[in-house]
Amino acid sequence: MPTYKAPVDDVQFLLYDVLHFERYDNLPGFTDASPDVVNAILGEAAKFSEEVLAPLNRVGDLEGCKRHEDGRVTTPKGFKEAYRKLRDGGWLGLSAPAEYGGQGLPATLSACVNEFVISANMAFAMYSGLVQGAVAALLTHGDDTQKQRFVPKMVAGEWAGTMNLTEAHCGTDLGLLRSKAVPQPDGSYKITGTKIFISGGEQDLTDNIIHLVLARIEGAPPGTKGISLFVVPKVSIKPDGMLAGPNGVSCGSIEHKMGIHGNSTCVMNYDGATGWLVGEANRGLNAMFTMMNDARLGVGLQGLALSEVAYQNAVTYAKDRLQGRALTGPKFPDKPADPIIVHPDIRRTLMSIRAFNEAARALVLWIALNGDVAHRSDDAKARQASDDLRGLLTPVVKGVLTDTGFANTVAAQQVFGGHGYIAEHGMEQFVRDARIAMIYEGANGIQGLDLVGRKLGKDGGRAVMAFFAEVQSYIKERVENEALNPYLKPLGQALAHLQQATMWFMQNAIKAPDNAGAGSTDYMHLFGLVALGYMWCRIVEAANAKLANGAGGDADRMNAKLVTGRFFVERMLPETATHLARIQAGATTTMGLPVEAF
Ligand SMILES: Cc1cc2nc3c(=O)[nH]c(=O)nc-3n(C[C@H](O)[C@H](O)[C@H](O)COP(=O)(O)OP(=O)(O)OC[C@H]3O[C@@H](n4cnc5c(N)ncnc54)[C@H](O)[C@@H]3O)c2cc1C
Repeated sequence: MPTYKAPVDDVQFLLYDVLHFERYDNLPGFTDASPDVVNAILGEAAKFSEEVLAPLNRVGDLEGCKRHEDGRVTTPKGFKEAYRKLRDGGWLGLSAPAEYGGQGLPATLSACVNEFVISANMAFAMYSGLVQGAVAALLTHGDDTQKQRFVPKMVAGEWAGTMNLTEAHCGTDLGLLRSKAVPQPDGSYKITGTKIFISGGEQDLTDNIIHLVLARIEGAPPGTKGISLFVVPKVSIKPDGMLAGPNGVSCGSIEHKMGIHGNSTCVMNYDGATGWLVGEANRGLNAMFTMMNDARLGVGLQGLALSEVAYQNAVTYAKDRLQGRALTGPKFPDKPADPIIVHPDIRRTLMSIRAFNEAARALVLWIALNGDVAHRSDDAKARQASDDLRGLLTPVVKGVLTDTGFANTVAAQQVFGGHGYIAEHGMEQFVRDARIAMIYEGANGIQGLDLVGRKLGKDGGRAVMAFFAEVQSYIKERVENEALNPYLKPLGQALAHLQQATMWFMQNAIKAPDNAGAGSTDYMHLFGLVALGYMWCRIVEAANAKLANGAGGDADRMNAKLVTGRFFVERMLPETATHLARIQAGATTTMGLPVEAF
């Protein structure tokens, strides 16, 4: 059975020593998040994840969800009770506004908690993750009636939320969407259509499910310009807020799939279901993007969370499994063989995963903190700068953290040899569960295209220029810092590669867009490496400061940061050169063969 221990110490170090969370106490909700409160929240979230959710991970995988003849869907044994605990603990409303029943705490804290919950049980975490995204979309684009009617119950965990975009013929290309909305005299709409692959579309955890559904109002223009967003409850709601009867929404079937068996993936039928327009007509994609952007960051977090739990189990196994002797002579001569952790190739694997995880966690929290500034600051300039950064890095977090997170679950499985391939140790479940994160919320190829095609040029390149300037001035201001130099130099080199790649696109991809398409995945990973390298420099700087001030009981952990960061900049960051070379090779060979040649 795999085990999980939430990395509470690392989160605390990142929040306070690296990101200086306490300096944001001018933002609403931050004064309530005193170190004591934060520590209590992290401690309770760790306990809930380790003791309640992690033991259900295997159960959920083996049992899966079941659709019954009458259309009901039941979740695996124990999920209902665990969801009740999640609800009673107030976890869903941690960072939701107080006026809707939330605690109004920083969303950065929700990101910390979400990592623990996902590591412990990704399939379970998806139910609550979708509620948070749906609440964000309703709060941003819904009218007052919609906010009052739906949000408090969702924040309280009594009702769930889903997002309904995908149809059988329309996945990435939402312009092909066919679901229909017919206006009614009372201002509502009758929604008809079939959505597929809807996560948590039906379940037995909550009394109601609030579906956010993309559909086309009768007579609306074709393509993405004619899509609107609707809120459609599974069970109709009376004016007094009490539940009435069924609303023409049903689950036609559930998918049998590679992983996340504990999460129901549903075909949803809307048969004249009553829904209400959210935001403006024909601007539904724009509104849905609020939910999708939150969800993309949440999916990036899934990549990190699975990489972390897979790493922890690989370390335990590597210390225990006896095979062969260390190249430099036996390290445990009293044993029949040394544990495999003495072998450099096993260390290379473990260090690669660890060096990614620790920087990826910093990146996620840095972006979450910028999300709080973007939403809560009263300084318009600060709001814009944070929003720019968050928008720019959303496809990077989604694409890079899930590509690498999946690769890391495979690498961690490799540490187990054949024992990783069989089910007993749980490693193959991590691989299967992690795989979906590269696909949904926009397949990762689309994240690269979003970065290169939309985010780079947005507002005349304001966001990317600001990112370059931030990293550049960080390096420049610390050139005299000898302890940091071994980290800053490789970061400077990697940043130069990123800037060259950006320039290459500007010169070669505007007239020949295939050059952008052929290089976009490499560019996304090149960007990710620079962002992670920047995080490592900040982590190492903080670790050095802590050591200089007498790190006490933390000295070993801080020294380990210096080594792990060095591993990253020496052995992982140089991959930026390969990405740059691939980008500069352009699309000639990628697109060189005619379709018939395949
Ligand atoms: C388990 C699971 C849960 C899901 N949950 C939800 C949910 O809750 N709500 C929801 O609405 N959807 C959900 N989805 C759907 C998911 O978001 C889509 O599967 C995904 O967006 C890709 O769409 P598609 O499968 O139709 O692939 P396609 O769009 O057919 O894409 C196939 C491949 O082609 C590539 N591609 C497509 N267009 C382009 C292009 N223009 N340029 C370059 N490459 C391109 C893609 O990157 C992909 O690799 C879920 C899917 C699964 C499997």
